[in-house]
Amino acid sequence: NQQVASPTVRTTCPYCGVGCGVLATPQADGSVAIAGDPDHPANFGRLCSKGSALGETLSLDGRLLYPEIAGDRASWDEALDRVAGTFRQTIDQFGPDSVAIFGSGQLLTEDYYVANKLMKGFIGSGNMDTNSRLCMASSVAGHKRAFGSDTVPGNYEDLELADLIVLVGSNLGWCHPVLYQRIVKAKAERPDMRVVLIDPRRTVTADIADLHLAVQSDGDSALFVGLLAHLAQHGLTAPDFIADHTSGYSAALMVAEDWPLERVAEAAGVPPKAVEIFYSWFAQTEKVVTVYSQGVNQSASGTDKVNAIINCHLATGRIGRAGMGPFSVTGQPNAMGGREVGGLANMLAAHMDFTPETIDRVGRFWGSNTVAKAPGLKAVDMFAAMARGEIKAVWIMATNPVDSMPEADAVRAALVACPFVVVSDMSARTDTGITAHVRLPAAGWGEKDGTVTNSERRISRQRPFLALPGEARPDWWIVKEVARRMGFGQSFDYESPAQIFAEHVALTAFENEGSRSLDLTGLGGADYATLAPTQWPVRRKPTARMFGDGRFLTPDGKARFVPVLPPPPFAPPPGSFILNTGRVRDHWHTMTRTGKAARLSAHYAEPFVELHPADAERLNIRRATLVRLSNRHGSAVVRALVTDRQRPGHLFAPMHWTDQFASSGRVDALVTAKVDPVSSQPALKMAEVHAEPV
Ligand code: SF4
Repeated sequence: NQQVASPTVRTTCPYCGVGCGVLATPQADGSVAIAGDPDHPANFGRLCSKGSALGETLSLDGRLLYPEIAGDRASWDEALDRVAGTFRQTIDQFGPDSVAIFGSGQLLTEDYYVANKLMKGFIGSGNMDTNSRLCMASSVAGHKRAFGSDTVPGNYEDLELADLIVLVGSNLGWCHPVLYQRIVKAKAERPDMRVVLIDPRRTVTADIADLHLAVQSDGDSALFVGLLAHLAQHGLTAPDFIADHTSGYSAALMVAEDWPLERVAEAAGVPPKAVEIFYSWFAQTEKVVTVYSQGVNQSASGTDKVNAIINCHLATGRIGRAGMGPFSVTGQPNAMGGREVGGLANMLAAHMDFTPETIDRVGRFWGSNTVAKAPGLKAVDMFAAMARGEIKAVWIMATNPVDSMPEADAVRAALVACPFVVVSDMSARTDTGITAHVRLPAAGWGEKDGTVTNSERRISRQRPFLALPGEARPDWWIVKEVARRMGFGQSFDYESPAQIFAEHVALTAFENEGSRSLDLTGLGGADYATLAPTQWPVRRKPTARMFGDGRFLTPDGKARFVPVLPPPPFAPPPGSFILNTGRVRDHWHTMTRTGKAARLSAHYAEPFVELHPADAERLNIRRATLVRLSNRHGSAVVRALVTDRQRPGHLFAPMHWTDQFASSGRVDALVTAKVDPVSSQPALKMAEVHAEPV
């Protein structure tokens, strides 16, 4: 891969939502030296195994380098004309809701902005959703219900300042390793700091836990509902904060009071004594941060779980101050940036929902009278509509839904049946790309230029240090060229990501009198080239913490308690298991990049399933033999990893392997497409499956 820069370039890791700063230094031999950026406030020089191996993932092996139509190389003009022409024809014949864009938390904010503007602002449909729907949609919905805005209150420093960290549904040690390292260091320096882990699995993260509550799936909900009742019953709430800064406390408490400790313990599947210890630590400790991730979000009751956690922080007034608050950590590098530009189907733009006022405001800003009037189809519904023939043209950007969506075989069938599929991706080898009529080569990490936002609202630059290979182009350029060919050229007259970012900044500030937390006014005159990592909102200066003044973004300025009723326990029929899916330490999503680094594959070389020794014995499954997992949605054959880290009756399988890397290892084929009723995030951690030796 040809280099454009030889001095060290300051950029950002493209993997998880920690958003670590990276120093990339191209070498004379063509390689790139990678180091953590000591000045980046997310990582202060640290990198995890994936980040430090970034230099080993930059070869052009497996790259899509030229546009293709029907599998044959085409010119950019031919490919772009085909995409624009077919989208235009489809819209003219069937209406704007017959087309869709499915994006990704891998897109940079500028890419996302332009794609969202095209679909919602000019095509006039809400049908732009993203794989971030699979990642943090329940956190978004929970934030909006409680705070009136999708705002993460705190920051990473709070994890070091806390006296108690509660980790819920998070294997931080593998999935956000640098954040985990920061906690390990803080705990070593302050041994009185406590960590509670709430997770069905005894993951590596349990190594730092003073208490591990190995709940059954979705048992975390009851824990936090019961905690609210416990705090109230023992007079351990903050009555002044509740009275002055919140609403809905009585209603939430009335539901919670039906959940005494013994009932909670039974629903959670953990000993009452362990619940008692957790409750007493939470009650006695002022500085508490509750960190939650996909074990909370990827559930059919994910939004309620988010609010059950937030309720406990509101009841104790522990929010917006140093070392305390609820804290959602996102899976992807730019899930936050995507939601900031409105890249979810239920959002219009710049943290604005669809209302007559916002549609008018955004329409005036964009100079369009065809702005979508209503939310579009969310991920699961989008592919279901495709299967029914209602979506007739789809553009998939920087993601691989044939492997990562629930009921992945049905998603593949929907794409195969769809009359027109466009895939823009840096990789030639994806199971989704195979279904495409037009493939567009996109720029990859090291070539892309733009911004991302990490889990603590910090905007950082990704900067290029490699030339664009072959005919690859940045995603924003590809979208604007299609927009131009569809007749929207005047509004997509972009020459650089800096120009797009400036427009994004201006939209966040447009007619924003403090009613929207996403306000980047202060970045309006910033030099994009040298932009330092900055936490939004940036009105006059960056904001490290939100809501410390007790004022929220609801109409009455008060945070809202949400009554939460824990879901009934998920009890699969006798003989079947609950399948939990997730990540391993050294691979990322569907391995199109990490699969290139031999040392990353040394950690786990092939797809596997973890199961408890008692289950293995009952099914006559021996260690390291092959196991077939199956249900009515599909099947996968994986290696048995027998371990007492699993609860009996629960299985865990990683999501990374695809038909490109290991045939029959696609576990998302087995995952149910059941979704949370508020956020429409799928329950990726609770599929019912059978297991048998092969
Ligand atoms: Fe990259 Fe996340 Fe690792 Fe940091 S912790 S180096 S952002 S994968």
